[in-house]
Amino acid sequence: MFRLALVHLIDSSLCALLSAIARLVDAPAKPTHWLHIIRAPATSRANTAFRHGGYVFLLRATARGLAVTAACTLAAISATTLQAQVSWVSAPISAVHYDVTADSASVGSRKLGVAMTFRTASTKPVVLALPAWSPGHYTLLWFARRVSNFTAESNGSPLEWHMLDYQTWEIIPRAPGEIRVSFKYLADTIDRAVAWTKPNFSFFNGTNLFMYPAGRSLEWGASVTVHTEPSWRVATGMTPSTQPNTFSATRYHDLVDMPFFVGRFAIDSTNVQNHWIRLAMYPDSVMTPALRTRFLGWVDRFVPAEMAVFRDVEFRNYTIFFVADTIVNAGGLEHQNSQMDEIPLARLQDTPASLFSHEFFHSWNVKRLRPADMVPYRYSDAQPTRWLWVSEGITDYYANVALVRGGITDSTGFYNAIAAYIMAADHAGAVSLSDASLSVWVNPANSMSGIYYPKGGLAGFLLDIMIRDASNNSNSLDTVMRTLYNTTYKHGKGFTSSNWWSEVSRASGGKSFDEFRRRYIDGREPMPVDAVLALAGLRVVRDGANGRVRVTETPNASAKAVMVREGILHGDGSSGPRRQP
Ligand SMILES: [Zn+2]
Repeated sequence: MFRLALVHLIDSSLCALLSAIARLVDAPAKPTHWLHIIRAPATSRANTAFRHGGYVFLLRATARGLAVTAACTLAAISATTLQAQVSWVSAPISAVHYDVTADSASVGSRKLGVAMTFRTASTKPVVLALPAWSPGHYTLLWFARRVSNFTAESNGSPLEWHMLDYQTWEIIPRAPGEIRVSFKYLADTIDRAVAWTKPNFSFFNGTNLFMYPAGRSLEWGASVTVHTEPSWRVATGMTPSTQPNTFSATRYHDLVDMPFFVGRFAIDSTNVQNHWIRLAMYPDSVMTPALRTRFLGWVDRFVPAEMAVFRDVEFRNYTIFFVADTIVNAGGLEHQNSQMDEIPLARLQDTPASLFSHEFFHSWNVKRLRPADMVPYRYSDAQPTRWLWVSEGITDYYANVALVRGGITDSTGFYNAIAAYIMAADHAGAVSLSDASLSVWVNPANSMSGIYYPKGGLAGFLLDIMIRDASNNSNSLDTVMRTLYNTTYKHGKGFTSSNWWSEVSRASGGKSFDEFRRRYIDGREPMPVDAVLALAGLRVVRDGANGRVRVTETPNASAKAVMVREGILHGDGSSGPRRQP
């Protein structure tokens, strides 16, 4: 897809134009400077405009300069070798505050009120954008499509504004000072990445509502005030301030990763190793004593097993947001200090513990330890990676590991989860985990769709066994996850392919995994399940008639294989607590 980068044209003379084109020729690797385009007052008679590929080009020049500009622009558009990224650049802004109105009237109309106030130090245009997606939910949802009644003002007087594209607004300040932007946000969709309302309740993500200055660093802090009914609750992972219903975050990435419940909902908590884990449930009637005891009881047992993998917990407290309603696409969405889970009301009693343990493990794996392709998050468009088999598949593996190490399931339950992985991989056929990871953004209509979950989980299990076998159980996949967390995330980086495979090899005493990667991760060969499971005293029993698979312990397995198996099930000295009797 061809896109254009727009840069303000300071001087529209032919000389400046030729200079800009010269820079294009000289530095094709920096395409954001390839063409200067004028932004001029719409009332100027010297302006002209044309459209191409969904973008508007405003040109101001002498007649000759305009003709040359247009000719060169069209020539450049037709050049298939040019690739560039939309790169709006906003004037700097500061003192950012958001107000969200989620009172009875707002949720009754299913439209949240949103206001953003900030300061600007000049009259240069401010360019604000809304995200196209929510991290973890790898689908372009274009949150701007739900915006209406957009206004911009300063000192009570309206400011000129217009849209630069479908998710970007440009505001023209009259003078330095405070600007207030406001709009309504349609919150009618029950989806963990989107905003939703009921007559007494609202759920929203920061990605839905909070605009950011385009083309600028996202390392700035902001505060949020929620305006709601006096008797309604507000819950979020953001840091509360001394002002009522007001919260703060120090980076935009945090601001949009801490969703809100506002309204009537039930909330309770448990303390695990000095961290409060809250359970917030909507509607409040679903938090029966029995369900509360079951859910928080699971939390008490799987959380220590997951903490033990990384031995580092950065969140002060953690919130499990839970909605039970008419939900088609049940599941959860991870955040750095919370998770948002959705279950059909009719299946409430079938809620699996692995839903909670999966999303909880994400607070390390993907929210913090993350592929370099996704560091930092880029909100304006898709951000593909070949590593969802680690970020999702290995998270799912550890969701099951934590349940057996915490004593929530027994070894048979764990083997059944592995058998389900094997069956899913068999059923998918010859597909590559790397390709499946990359393709999530187009939701492929083939067997790659979502296969990085079960087949990635299976890859994690095989790697865990092979590392333990090669290191005489002194290292494990836990070692790899913990080491990469410390050597990449803790140094402000994502992990690369080289980081990953080097660490797997190092944990295995130098054993090469090149062939494993080539054949089973990037390649499409069936995984060597039987051979690897034998190293853990396990075997795969296949029922040829219906494709069913069982995983069972091998009688008379070697002492080493039993040690590997026990290390996975119980956690060893380096990886987790012993299973409860
Ligand atoms: Zn996940």
